[in-house]
Amino acid sequence: MSTLLLENIEILATFDEQRRVLKNAWLLIQDNLIKEIGTGRCETQKIDQRLDLTGYVILPGLINLHHHFYQALLKNVPSLQDASLFRWLRDMRMLMSEIRDEDLYIASKINIAELLLSGCTTTVEHNYLKVNDMKHETGIAAAQELGIRFHLARGSHSSSPTSNGAPLSHTLEREDDVLADTERLIKTYHDPSHGAMTRIVNAPSSPFAASDRMYKESIALARKYGVGNHTHMAEAPDEEQYMLEKFGKRSVEHAEELGWVGPDVWYAHATMLDDHEKAIIQRTGTGICNCPSSNMYTAARVCEVSPMLRQGGFKIGLGVDGSAANNSSNLLKEVRHALMMQRAFFGADAMSPTQALEIAILGGTAILQRDDIGVLAPGKAADIIGVDFRQLPFAGGIHDPLAGLVLCEVDKVDLSIVNGNIRVANGQLVGVDTAPLIEQGNQLGTNLVRRMEKRYKTSITAPVWRRAYPFDGLQDE
Ligand SMILES: [Zn+2]
Repeated sequence: MSTLLLENIEILATFDEQRRVLKNAWLLIQDNLIKEIGTGRCETQKIDQRLDLTGYVILPGLINLHHHFYQALLKNVPSLQDASLFRWLRDMRMLMSEIRDEDLYIASKINIAELLLSGCTTTVEHNYLKVNDMKHETGIAAAQELGIRFHLARGSHSSSPTSNGAPLSHTLEREDDVLADTERLIKTYHDPSHGAMTRIVNAPSSPFAASDRMYKESIALARKYGVGNHTHMAEAPDEEQYMLEKFGKRSVEHAEELGWVGPDVWYAHATMLDDHEKAIIQRTGTGICNCPSSNMYTAARVCEVSPMLRQGGFKIGLGVDGSAANNSSNLLKEVRHALMMQRAFFGADAMSPTQALEIAILGGTAILQRDDIGVLAPGKAADIIGVDFRQLPFAGGIHDPLAGLVLCEVDKVDLSIVNGNIRVANGQLVGVDTAPLIEQGNQLGTNLVRRMEKRYKTSITAPVWRRAYPFDGLQDE
């Protein structure tokens, strides 16, 4: 049994039912759980380790509900920089077919490092690829190594309709193989216990890439074992058109027919919902993961988070989405982008900083159906982040440090504790040397792109310079 005391905490935001914010507080951790919280001086005598958090704002760790780890090696690819969705998907489909297990391993570590440094303590990894020698265990191994709480959404590409969004046929898995492997992963790795570090989620990629049978049988399997379900849904106009042409229905109407609604289901994006689809989502308690950076970058629509929250009865969380559609895994910045995007579309009072944080913390907790994280209270898992606000981005703006995390330019946390273990201290990852990781990521990313260019006889790395000056019309070079 070990104890860790966080003391002299300037501001402690509990995110509990009363939304208590304590000043001059302390928080005692015993092993992996929060034991006690108080203000002033902690009277407990025997403490193994103490952290003086003068000047810190402390809150529960953020939860990332949607990611594709392999894409860390596909950040900032020139042909994807200002591509239309069609061009983006065309190049991505070819790149996906070249991913190897080593790529996934290093990409996972890069993403997890970025996530931990940006305040994420629980992440979902939606991996729908199983090409070449890739293994789903690889993401789990990377998560265990770096110490982040991990939900592996075992995805799949199993059908390829004639559509711009469909995967290449040689990257498809057989549906029976997907179902068997999902069951194997659940039996081997899914931990339903309080404070679990690893859980499995059932997650066919999208209506473009999985059949009705795949959706129906996989959710039956998931419900047999009590695991969650996740998929891309109502993401873009292309999907809407495809669903209407193929099924004569909209995405969520079709999903309801397949049984893909309920409190154990959440959708990534949901930017194309009509009122009937929103009503289905609200009535069934289905969750939504907003991915604002990705939606802005790929010029998708906007997820109507603010109008839905105003209406009430919607469960909404936050995700960074894959790095090919975000170019970053910074969850704290994603909170800011969520707030900015909602205000741009729905008005200055569309989202407050604390609402934006609640979505990233309590929204994620509700959608993952976990009652052991998301709140700083005795008995909860010790997933805690902190920012020292005696830094330049806050200078002149310390009136409301909690809101400052969202409104000021804060791009990393100074402290992160996951399951009672310190993962970030003084703004640095603990026990992780990022220098070799960066070198390996650059090398593997370059090799991956070269393999793709060679196999498909194309070029995607020539920088695109679109002139803005002189101001006589845009020109591509
Ligand atoms: Zn995605």
